[in-house]
Amino acid sequence: MPLKEFIPENIWNNMPNKYCTVQQAFNNPMSVQLQTATRYCPRHLLSQFLTTNGTKDTWIWCPTANGIFSTKYVRSLLAPANSQQWTVLWSPHIPLKWSVLLWHLILNSIPVDETVKEKGVPLTSKCSCCPQPQEESTLHLFFRSDTANQVWLELSHLLHFSNKEVSAVTDGVMDFLVRPKIIATTGCLVRCTFMAALWEIWCSRNKARFQDQKMTAKHIINRTMLSIRAICISFKFKKVPQPWLAALHQTENGKENLKSITPSIVRWIMPPSGRLKLNVDGAFMMTTGRAGGGGILRDHEGNMCWAFAQAYHDLNSSLAAEAMALNDGLSICYSKGVSEILVETDSLNLLQLVTKQISSQWDLTCIMHDIAAKTLNLKAEIVHAPREANRVADCLASSSMSCPRLVIWSSWADLPTTVKDPYHLDKVGDPSIKS
Ligand SMILES: [Zn+2]
Repeated sequence: MPLKEFIPENIWNNMPNKYCTVQQAFNNPMSVQLQTATRYCPRHLLSQFLTTNGTKDTWIWCPTANGIFSTKYVRSLLAPANSQQWTVLWSPHIPLKWSVLLWHLILNSIPVDETVKEKGVPLTSKCSCCPQPQEESTLHLFFRSDTANQVWLELSHLLHFSNKEVSAVTDGVMDFLVRPKIIATTGCLVRCTFMAALWEIWCSRNKARFQDQKMTAKHIINRTMLSIRAICISFKFKKVPQPWLAALHQTENGKENLKSITPSIVRWIMPPSGRLKLNVDGAFMMTTGRAGGGGILRDHEGNMCWAFAQAYHDLNSSLAAEAMALNDGLSICYSKGVSEILVETDSLNLLQLVTKQISSQWDLTCIMHDIAAKTLNLKAEIVHAPREANRVADCLASSSMSCPRLVIWSSWADLPTTVKDPYHLDKVGDPSIKS
């Protein structure tokens, strides 16, 4: 609040030069404004919040870390706590159409017969989901019909969900979504499957209604599991639990395989003759906060020109470690006069940052700026390589935690023991298995 609030009205009315900046009022210890303030305003306010360091007065929006006002932040302050639950609907793993459908479900705006009737359109309702048709409501179609019963029964061992317990659609859907996640992958799969099943029920109903195709639970379940397989593959879910693997394989029709569990063979590819390749990698341990990076420059025969490793401090993400390692690698190239290099990183995020496909976090702005300048200067070409094809840099990064200062090796014989093996394997073109 303004300091004026603490000053009695008659004093305020008689005060000269009221409309001045904080700087003007507080720079002179004898100013009438400062004298009045110290007399009437709480001391801690003056000592804690007022500084006069010669800069211009600015507005600070305290709730944010950067002090910048945004209407978005005000909205989050004003929104009731439960509206945060909407966030469970949206996730990069979840196709937008599923999220939108569930959003409509929660708002009760899916155009089933009952909802259409409620809007004043007269019609005779006959559901498409049961042998003995009943009136079609959202609750009936998604949770009560014969088809829905079969779908949820079939999925109950995966979802631990009983459609019979749903008495109102909005609450039923919301309750399911805000259930605490058990473990990351399972929680995600459970939520995705629930949403996919609802989506397929809706699609199946529309096909029955408008294209005269029969609604069957089997078809709905198959399509649901196919979508989940696609999500597992495209987001490379690790450690898919056994019941899920079994369910996903059951629906397999022989054409596709779960790529995440099919091993493939990758190897480090030597650069073309006359060019050099730099492989870099960062390491970051969330638990201890320790971080480091390393890299190696090799010629077209896989011979090492040099390698480096260095521990980093005060980083907060593996992405930051990856960026630092890339920057260090480029710096060394620069200092040694090497240019037109090929660069490989196994961090897709970093590559997307470098190629500006995604925008930079504010705390990485400086280093990304540095990297961009060096890349241009060195005419470096940065590409992505699978982690298994980047194993020397990976080992260098892991060993970097014990290198408090930058270490550069110029002979392979001096490399740490853990790095020599993968170095030799790369040199003879030995492949590794990518699972
Ligand atoms: Zn029905």
